[in-house]
Amino acid sequence: MAKHRITLIPGDGIGPEISEAMRIAVEATGVDIEWVEVNAGQTVMDKYGTPLPDEVLDAIKDTKVAIKGPITTPVGTGFRSVNVTLRKELDLYACVRPAFSIEGAKSKFENVDLIVFRENTEDLYAGIERMVDEDTAESIKRITRRGTERISRFAFEYAKKHGRKKVTVVHKANIMKFSDGLFLKVSSEVAKEYEEIEFEDRIVDNMCMQLVMHPENYDCLLCPNLYGDIISDLAAGLVGGLGIAPGANIGDEYAVFEPVHGSAPKYAGMNKANPTALILSAWMMLDYLGEKDAAQKLLLAVKKTIKEAKKVTYDLGGTASTFEMAEEIARNITG
Ligand code: NAD
Repeated sequence: MAKHRITLIPGDGIGPEISEAMRIAVEATGVDIEWVEVNAGQTVMDKYGTPLPDEVLDAIKDTKVAIKGPITTPVGTGFRSVNVTLRKELDLYACVRPAFSIEGAKSKFENVDLIVFRENTEDLYAGIERMVDEDTAESIKRITRRGTERISRFAFEYAKKHGRKKVTVVHKANIMKFSDGLFLKVSSEVAKEYEEIEFEDRIVDNMCMQLVMHPENYDCLLCPNLYGDIISDLAAGLVGGLGIAPGANIGDEYAVFEPVHGSAPKYAGMNKANPTALILSAWMMLDYLGEKDAAQKLLLAVKKTIKEAKKVTYDLGGTASTFEMAEEIARNITG
């Protein structure tokens, strides 16, 4: 039996191509993985009548760890987003999105090294919405002590394990005194348990300005769901865009690794999309699995490939295809 069994969800749009590219790169590290392939999203709708068949959840519950390509969320069908449902069903409460400068990836900054921790289950994404009347809508912003405590502890533990120095909590407690006030209060309490890590807070609007002016001053950002969603895209923009932005959704029992970007339907099937964001998501997965050497090899190979710029995709200024870039990363691991 393989050392690790991983559920692979290729997704749709550019998902299948970048998933195959990710496998090429990960297999070059030599880590012994059995991939359990299942799919979700529009491509399985006809067969199962649902975008999230039971076999997908069953597979993740069995292997505990999954990596997925992006899935298109159709607007206006009766189904909830597969991505949101997965996070809820598996209680993947911590969304972790690193954004760091890679030499060769064009961006306005050279020394960014951020990790955004986004609470994944509460806030305005809890789905508590209603039409009060035809012309009035309400969405409830729900923040709980339990939800805040566990994402805060997750962020501090992750910071400690990865040698990070500072956590900044992002909020708007000056206006939303109860909901964001609770997030700030509880995260500040948890921070006291981690004296070796510096702790500070920023109001979200100021945070955005600080990040686009002095991103080098920040390290780990701890955010409620909505601010985390926005700030992680902003962070990806600081280091060269969505093509290189990885992510993970982690709970106490299960973890699903996936890029920040979506299914980019206009590039589907063109062998053109950048596989880096998914390959770096696999780097996070190898780290999570305790495969530190393989993770490091993969990260160094990605950095070398982008720095040399011989075989990189269009968004990094090159002409290589998805697979050519993945094969170059694999060569840089084994060569
Ligand atoms: P998107 O991230 O798919 O694409 C936006 C643009 O970013 C693309 O047109 C392309 O120019 C660029 N881009 C994205 N990924 C790239 C890559 N790997 N290489 C090179 N360029 C890349 O965002 P969108 O167009 O807003 O969303 C498309 C669909 O994806 C929607 O249905 C959305 O709901 C879904 N989505 C899914 C996920 C997920 O599965 N986790 C996340 C975000 C969006």
